[in-house]
Amino acid sequence: MSRILIVEDEAKIARFVELELIHEGYEVQKAPDGRTGLDMALQEDYDLILLDVMLPGLNGIEVLRRLRQQKSTPVILLTARDAVMDKVSGLDAGADDYITKPFAIEELLARIRVAERHHEGDEKSRGARIEIGPVSLDEDRHEVTVNGEPVYLTNHEFLLLQALMENKNIVMDRARLIEKVCGYDYVGETNVIDVYVRYLRTKIDDRYGINLIRTVRGVGYVIREDLDQK
Ligand code: CA
Repeated sequence: MSRILIVEDEAKIARFVELELIHEGYEVQKAPDGRTGLDMALQEDYDLILLDVMLPGLNGIEVLRRLRQQKSTPVILLTARDAVMDKVSGLDAGADDYITKPFAIEELLARIRVAERHHEGDEKSRGARIEIGPVSLDEDRHEVTVNGEPVYLTNHEFLLLQALMENKNIVMDRARLIEKVCGYDYVGETNVIDVYVRYLRTKIDDRYGINLIRTVRGVGYVIREDLDQK
């Protein structure tokens, strides 16, 4: 059964939508303001979030922006009729769709089904993904993002980061890292790893103010799950 979170300060609308969704077989939870909604959305894994834009405290666009720093839960925005800006900035901030108030419940249900289908498709097309703190590495696509922003790495840098992330919390010595990055038949300096680590630190640690790759003196390197801020 799909679980849906409704973030809406107008109690009547929230209740009406809740009853309709329950009738359709969804499990529903409600939040009456932006901050509560954001907390619930971050703590629980919903299948979809209906998010009103005009909310007291934290507005819907800001809730969405903060949610997207951590999660890709499908979001449908509930916007006012003439609020073109809300739609544009909402889609920019990562909304999957929006619906204008007042809306027919059938239209909302149809949009919910579409958003759910799209999301299932996304999940399947996604390869193995390793996430540590704000850093996400997609093995199939050879893509790395930090806070959702793409970071461009050379192939060697990518392989080194992958080796460390796959073996998180395990100290990797230079010989093992060279096997992973340069292959078993590599003959050359082992300090090539130190060079790649330096490049990665420039591109990730320094730029995003995190302490991702740690040096273990006399041994090698490790990425630990609990990242320190710099
Ligand atoms: Ca409202």
